[in-house]
Amino acid sequence: MRLILLGPPGAGKGTQAQRLVERHGIVQLSTGDMLRAAVAAGTEVGLKAKAVMDAGQLVSDEIVIGIVADRIEEPDARKGFVLDGFPRTIAQAEALDAMLKQKGLKLDAVIEFKVDNDKLVGRIVQRAKDTEAAGLPVRKDDNPEVFTKRLQEFASLTAALSPYYRERGLLRTVDGMAPIDQVSASIAAILDEAVSA
Ligand code: AMP
Repeated sequence: MRLILLGPPGAGKGTQAQRLVERHGIVQLSTGDMLRAAVAAGTEVGLKAKAVMDAGQLVSDEIVIGIVADRIEEPDARKGFVLDGFPRTIAQAEALDAMLKQKGLKLDAVIEFKVDNDKLVGRIVQRAKDTEAAGLPVRKDDNPEVFTKRLQEFASLTAALSPYYRERGLLRTVDGMAPIDQVSASIAAILDEAVSA
């Protein structure tokens, strides 16, 4: 099973991706997590990406496509994967198409999270509080100012992916403002249909 979760930051993609990993034994490929790991490790990619991420802007297509291309070559990605936070631009979507074509693979579905942007800032503030309460480091870009920039980046670059995948017959939509279990159930229904099609 190969899926993309599409939606603005704070839409719940990460939470649902983790559930899909548990349920289907596929791997979660989160470019945000991979980039944060690169920043923490101080790699060349991390050094290039850090300031851009802290400002809530998008890291270059070249860097992100390179990371994903390497990651999907790893053995654990053979059983399938759920992409979370990638692609974010049309160039990334085209690069992904080319990678999959070269391997003779196809996407099963692209699941779009419909959300109310006005409520997302509140969610992200809560995410930061919960993280802090759990004694974990809070993401530097999870503050209202940078978050607003991240939402703008989504609207100007990533929203174009919905029509891209709709035209290819892959786009399915869930209500990202519904309770977590309900979103999971909607995704499960979509996947049942996609896999039996
Ligand atoms: P996320 O964890 O998905 O919210 O991503 C955190 C940050 O990492 C984003 O604000 C971007 O700076 C960077 N990032 C993650 N995925 C991508 C991507 N596919 N393309 C460009 N930048 C990305």
